[in-house]
Amino acid sequence: MELSNILDLIENARLKYSAHHIVKLIAVSKYASTEQIKFLYQSGQRAFGENKVQDLRQKCEILQNLPLEWHFLGHLQNNKINALLDLKPSLFHALDSVILAQDLQKKLSAKNQILKCLLQVNISNESQKNGVSLENAGEIYCQIAESYPNIELVGIMGINQNTSDTAILNRNFSAAKKLFDSLKNAKILSLGMSNDFELAIANGANLLRIGSKIFD
Ligand SMILES: *Cc1c(COP(=O)(O)O)cnc(C)c1O
Repeated sequence: MELSNILDLIENARLKYSAHHIVKLIAVSKYASTEQIKFLYQSGQRAFGENKVQDLRQKCEILQNLPLEWHFLGHLQNNKINALLDLKPSLFHALDSVILAQDLQKKLSAKNQILKCLLQVNISNESQKNGVSLENAGEIYCQIAESYPNIELVGIMGINQNTSDTAILNRNFSAAKKLFDSLKNAKILSLGMSNDFELAIANGANLLRIGSKIFD
């Protein structure tokens, strides 16, 4: 779908939720070539997301002359931390365990760097998904915020179930919103992908990560 059509859908959903609500779109470019990214840039899109460190590095390098904002969305292995930090992503969405926070803190402090992060929460409670459980998320969020000074926690990220059942999708999104509202200083609620972004907005999401709907 054309970017402008997606922006129209986002705008309609946003106005239905609240005229005061601000929603930001990340174009998830993991399926896209640098030519496609450039084309989107020319249509006004600035924020892009990748889920592999190697792909992010390549695309950053090729597109280094464009003022793009890069988000990292994927699970981060311990041995890729330094490589990711050197790329200075604007936001890391997938902080999914206390152990990863510990490892990140060590490497961030050695590099004298701060990283903005979202705590990834397993909002659909599926065993194959990464993220801390909804149940433990509040406590872990506070623990990370208090214990790791080089990690700047700014909110949470969730991936909903791959289903068209809107009752299930709504249940999981509204649980995420409830958690978000309970967190001190959380500003970003990153929910919503190609197939569920309108429902995500209806549940208060303010950051969307849309890939296939933009690039297919
Ligand atoms: C791939 C991906 C997306 C985008 O998914 P689409 O369904 O293609 O919109 C969003 N978030 C994360 C974490 C992803 O890995």
